[in-house]
Amino acid sequence: MATKDMKQIMADYYYEMDSAAKSSDKKVAWCSSVGPAEILRSLGFYVYFPENHSALLGATRMATDLIPYANAIGYSPEICSYLTADVGAYLKGITPLSQAYEGIKSIPKPDVLVFNTNQCRDVQDWLGWFAKEFRAPLIGVYTHRGIKDVTETHVPSIAQQMKEMIEPLEKISGNTFDINELKRTLSLSRECSDLWKKVLDTAAAVPAPLTFFDGTIHMGPAVVLRGTQQAVDYYKVLLAELEERVKNHEGAVNGERFRLYWEGMPIWGRLRVHSELFASHKACVVASTYCNSWIFTDFDAADPFKSMARAYTELFIVRADESKEKYLKEMIDFFKIDGMIFHDAKTCPANTNSRYGMPQRLERETGVPSLVVNGDLNDLRCLSDEQFKTNVEAFIEQLEDKR
Ligand code: SF4
Repeated sequence: MATKDMKQIMADYYYEMDSAAKSSDKKVAWCSSVGPAEILRSLGFYVYFPENHSALLGATRMATDLIPYANAIGYSPEICSYLTADVGAYLKGITPLSQAYEGIKSIPKPDVLVFNTNQCRDVQDWLGWFAKEFRAPLIGVYTHRGIKDVTETHVPSIAQQMKEMIEPLEKISGNTFDINELKRTLSLSRECSDLWKKVLDTAAAVPAPLTFFDGTIHMGPAVVLRGTQQAVDYYKVLLAELEERVKNHEGAVNGERFRLYWEGMPIWGRLRVHSELFASHKACVVASTYCNSWIFTDFDAADPFKSMARAYTELFIVRADESKEKYLKEMIDFFKIDGMIFHDAKTCPANTNSRYGMPQRLERETGVPSLVVNGDLNDLRCLSDEQFKTNVEAFIEQLEDKR
């Protein structure tokens, strides 16, 4: 029931976006996935997220063949494969949206592109390339990175950058900024975020009613439609379904024996294969940092700019290892984790946390073993399926022996 609703919501979102891009009076803003979407929406923009498009390129396994087109114009195979796949798809003139939604022929042309460097520098280069291509203005929020505690040193400067983008955005949108509209949008985003958190938290139940792999599918509205009533309504339905499953002790993995945590990016082109591999060993990947990244508990309509600045900086990806480890320890306890999977994504160092000793430190402090898997979010040339399977099977044997 909820999955059917989600397919419809996502279809409506992309059809509306397509018609907005074709009309002369509606404006489209491209936004990085944890960029200031609420400001854009409150000004009447249709907000498009290239990362969602690139994840589709990955999930449809189109990405690997498209990356070389971006490499050919100087974007290295070593950098973000969301960026290279998306630029490659544009250069080749194709999009998975055409296959999924009849009548959509291309990605929407932007009237403005807005990024926040909170997640990485690649979003700046990515949106910057398209800004030149479409001759559209580019606006950025520059966030401190590697932060231990988010303090008053950080928040006001980011809030100020968000305030300063209002004037140029008003001109582009043709609408006057209304603080009450921003507050209303932010309240809806907060409600969406709270519901999304509750959805993910249902996986603390034993057996867990959903997996990380389910989460990567259900997170669509939390990413592209936060700040709207549709997203809120969707997560109410999904939450009710999951609570019912918890009540009936229905697990997502039959006979769940092991509970795992996925740290890092998903491998979009292998979601189903990986989901089946873990399930075949009665291992449930119950939670992940990735799906949790669209939880913004600091959003507060009473103080919109400061609370947005804080929420978009409190994110895991922005933080120092010390804060990340504290968070992961809480996740291990809350979700009753038996083992950690760290995905070393070749082209996304920003979302890879296994390269500076974190798995070993966590294992020492919690006793929970980890496995580091090599791969990538979109570039399947960086993944050996055989190696992945062998490593996961050996890890599960290790967990079995530990029992
Ligand atoms: S966080 Fe990683 S995957 Fe996301 S845009 Fe940045 S480099 Fe790409």
